[in-house]
Amino acid sequence: MPWEVLFKDGVYLPQIGWWLDARRSQTRAFVSHAHGDHIAAHKEIIATRTTASLMRLRLGGKRQETILDFNQPWQSDFGCEMRLFPAGHIFGSAMLHATTEHGSLLYTGDFKLRPSLAAEPCATPRADVLIMETTFGLPRYVFPPAEEIETGIINFCREALTEKIAPVLFAYSLGKTQELLQIVGHAGLPVMLHSHGYKMTQRYAELGMKLPRFSLLDTGNYAGHVIIAPPTPGRSESLSWINPKRTAVATGWAMDSGAIYRNGCDAAFPLSDHADYPDLLAFVDQVQPKIVYTLHGFAKEFAATLRARGVEAWAIGQQNQMDLSL
Ligand SMILES: [Zn+2]
Repeated sequence: MPWEVLFKDGVYLPQIGWWLDARRSQTRAFVSHAHGDHIAAHKEIIATRTTASLMRLRLGGKRQETILDFNQPWQSDFGCEMRLFPAGHIFGSAMLHATTEHGSLLYTGDFKLRPSLAAEPCATPRADVLIMETTFGLPRYVFPPAEEIETGIINFCREALTEKIAPVLFAYSLGKTQELLQIVGHAGLPVMLHSHGYKMTQRYAELGMKLPRFSLLDTGNYAGHVIIAPPTPGRSESLSWINPKRTAVATGWAMDSGAIYRNGCDAAFPLSDHADYPDLLAFVDQVQPKIVYTLHGFAKEFAATLRARGVEAWAIGQQNQMDLSL
């Protein structure tokens, strides 16, 4: 029997009886990483040590955890061998690779092919069936070279500090905050983190990631620091006590025109923890799948792109439920 791939609030593989990144609590689920839209109060999970730890910090509660190192083989029931490979998205993020007598399958979760300063380098194991995220699956999403993005962020902060204006970078507390800390901290600029990001960053350090110095955002003592805070609605009010300030967002969506206006910021930098369009194509080339299922973002468009290049590909997750068999 070939692989069967079902989708309803997450991917389900009936042959092996595991959910992948289910959004509602399930009996058994692989959790690729600890972002909010990938975790739920499952009974039993497979995850990396880092993801399980970050998940405990965010979700609380108890669950049975099967912790796997990268590339460590694990025999599940149904005669399936599973392994986790680094996804390069955030610290501890993993792809699931499953092998049965019917062939192999790779599920990427969120991934980033270009090296991140705050995640393990992404792997590209061979697989017959590839289920991949395609957030930036349109040709217009070609991110500039990493060095150019990093220099832009550092210069933005330096210039503000020189003018005695507080630079505020809006970034998700898990993943992007730590990547920005690596960029700005290694440039020699002192960094203060909002409490949410501070908590996650402390856990990154406890889990073994080497990071530049950082401190908790201090209302009375922030002058001369780069401030990194989560992008919450009404953020301008929540940080209204920081004055004067110059604000920026760090997101792949900065490639879209109007990103500065939409985010209500002074600048937008295309620092993403996802693969851009050329890297999505490069990833498929390296995994060499016989069939691809695309998920998230421009899934339909990217599947059509792959078919035009001679790779069988179908979007899933756009319909509420879909039953696809090989
Ligand atoms: Zn994510």
